Amino acid sequence: MRNSELSSLYQELDAIDEELLALLSRRASVAVKLGELRQERGLPKFDPAMEQETLEKLIPRNPGPLGQAAVRRLFHHIFTASFDPQAADNRKRLLVSRQTQEADTIIRVHGAAIGGGTSTLVAGPCAVESYEQLRETAAALKEAGVRIMRGGAFKPRTSPYDFQGLGLEGLKLLREVADEFGLAAISEIVTPHDIETAARYVDIIQIGARNMQNFELLKAAGDVRTPVLLKRGLAATLEEFLLAAEYIVSRGNTQVMLIERGIRTYEKWTRNTLDISAVPILKQESHLPVLVDVTHSTGRKDIMLPCAKAALAAGADGIMVEVHPNPQAALSDAGQQFDIPEFRRFHERLLASGLFRVPRN
Ligand code: PEP
Ligand code: MN
Repeated sequence: MRNSELSSLYQELDAIDEELLALLSRRASVAVKLGELRQERGLPKFDPAMEQETLEKLIPRNPGPLGQAAVRRLFHHIFTASFDPQAADNRKRLLVSRQTQEADTIIRVHGAAIGGGTSTLVAGPCAVESYEQLRETAAALKEAGVRIMRGGAFKPRTSPYDFQGLGLEGLKLLREVADEFGLAAISEIVTPHDIETAARYVDIIQIGARNMQNFELLKAAGDVRTPVLLKRGLAATLEEFLLAAEYIVSRGNTQVMLIERGIRTYEKWTRNTLDISAVPILKQESHLPVLVDVTHSTGRKDIMLPCAKAALAAGADGIMVEVHPNPQAALSDAGQQFDIPEFRRFHERLLASGLFRVPRN
């Protein structure tokens, strides 16, 4: 085929594409109007039955060379895109996405910076149990240079007969001891109406795995300006995880960090399965800081150190670990909390690995 023939065919294709685009745009404008009218009448914007009917009319008139299956597929896309022309674009334009913000979000609490190149260690007991328990833990954390202390006051327990946490009293204790040692405090909140109160006692609100898709809780957390640590749901995909974060950020609270805490699989030798691949994917897809909870993901003290190293090597901005002065007597998660000497060893080895990037100030 001569060059001139080739270029005239290319030109013909270009002209057809332009016509197609004009026709598709016209079709989308009509479909949007139709959708609005249907909504005014209380009907759903899009009617899949109508799509089917239209297709059945079109298929017998297909002149070829496109096959019937190809025509069905093409028109299905055209129908869906016409009724919601912005949908595909909106998906790409999530506020939590790297496409929207290239630079890492850095969250500053109590002089500690989470995200942006340094590593953060969040440690403390599973649950706030007493002033003495917290004090002993806080002293060990302070000595190790940890700046953020965790402690659950509202405990989401599998059994209603298990210790449910000290509630507001627990938050007050956490605040008191954190202040005594100059630490930042983080605690889980489980109901929307506690969010505002919590913001008075904690520096970071934790939203737990079981509540990752509690949308009213996410909205309430989005309405305050306290940083939020959002845990990945027990069976949440990464897309669902990011959309849950979007609930918070879209209401104006941009101070959100994500934490991988293991997902449910068939494996029984760990409490959950630590999804290490979540770390580089979340870091690529989002500008929010990403942490890894080695305690709830593994449930095994013997592998928390290598898992923490793996998390940092994969790009995590921080690690969460549970510490209790007397784990055997703990009112929750007794088997998986480090005692203080175990925590010290874990911390020293993590620092010695060179993977933990200690903040300079
Ligand atoms: C917790 O961190 O206290 C906790 C309950 O973890 P998760 O929500 O990940 O189970
Ligand atoms: Mn726990």
